[in-house]
Amino acid sequence: PIIFSIETSCDETAVAILRGKNEVLSHLVVSQIDIHKVFGGVVPEIAARKHLNYLNNLTEKAFEEAEIEPEEISAIAVTYGPGLVGALLIGLNFAKGLALNLNKPLIGVNHLYGHIYANFLAFPELKPPFLVLLVSGGHTMILHAKDYLHFEIIGQTMDDAAGEAFDKVARMLNLGYPGGPKIDELSQKGEPIYEFPKPLYHKGYDFSFSGLKTALLYFTKENENYKIEDVAASFQKALIDTLIHKTIKASKDLKINDIIIAGGVAANSYLREKINEEKSRNKKLNIYFPPLNLCTDNALMIARAGYEKYIRNQFADLNLDAVPNLGLKDIC
Ligand code: ATP
Ligand code: MG
Ligand code: FE
Repeated sequence: PIIFSIETSCDETAVAILRGKNEVLSHLVVSQIDIHKVFGGVVPEIAARKHLNYLNNLTEKAFEEAEIEPEEISAIAVTYGPGLVGALLIGLNFAKGLALNLNKPLIGVNHLYGHIYANFLAFPELKPPFLVLLVSGGHTMILHAKDYLHFEIIGQTMDDAAGEAFDKVARMLNLGYPGGPKIDELSQKGEPIYEFPKPLYHKGYDFSFSGLKTALLYFTKENENYKIEDVAASFQKALIDTLIHKTIKASKDLKINDIIIAGGVAANSYLREKINEEKSRNKKLNIYFPPLNLCTDNALMIARAGYEKYIRNQFADLNLDAVPNLGLKDIC
């Protein structure tokens, strides 16, 4: 099949065209970061308006790039949650319009499945069962993928998501938005010389990052002569070490050697370094993470997840609604 896909859950407007499982015909992303960073975070109304502005042009460009006619597609896959309701609705309504006009089936895709399926684009040989460390702006979970569309939550964050913690700490340090890439970059010029707390480190598979964030806030208030690069590196180490520690523990406990990392925080360079260390320590481990451009929000991952539903005839009808707080269990 040829799947045309749309992603507008947050501040990236993205469309893609995927043939079969893996042949990328088009992959376009317009980031609104430059627009929102003035406000220190995503402004939902602006995000929605920009999606509306961009979608027509992006779609035209995608078909040009793919060198196919819209009539040739097999289905339209669209993110229907989780995300900002106004932003989701723009993509969803656009997808419905196309589905109606072209008389093609609609596929509703859970954004979280998209992040996970980004790995299948890069590593076609991947097969369940495997473990997933899903670390994004809104989510932090360890999952046990028992089958292609059957994921069980092993652990999750009790408060902030990993990406959210990066963004909030960056804001505390006046580094701007989005914080993840900024802290990553700064950390490379610093040393992790400060011991920040790693909450729940030795307790099960759940995460908690708000204590770490607060500790950092007090540290910066109570001290003056610190290098911001060292603070960033120390924070990053405390958070990432916790993520890796729990994921490796889950892999040992459940005896699953295949692990995939998904979501925006998978772009973090210290996380990638740590993973390579773990791999050289334990040769049995297979740890996958998507290339950088598939870690953060994009539509190609939505097309790939949509493909799994397409081959199972899991189509949506035209009254599919946006679900801002869609959970992982909600596949259809
Ligand atoms: P969700 O997918 O949970 O709905 P989202 O779509 O906003 O949330 P993503 O697009 O997956 O999240 O990822 C964005 C997050 O990734 C942001 O919080 C950003 O700070 C973080 N991030 C991006 N690059 C890096 C990096 N190099 N290091 C750490 N964090 C990063
Ligand atoms: Mg984004
Ligand atoms: Fe995302």
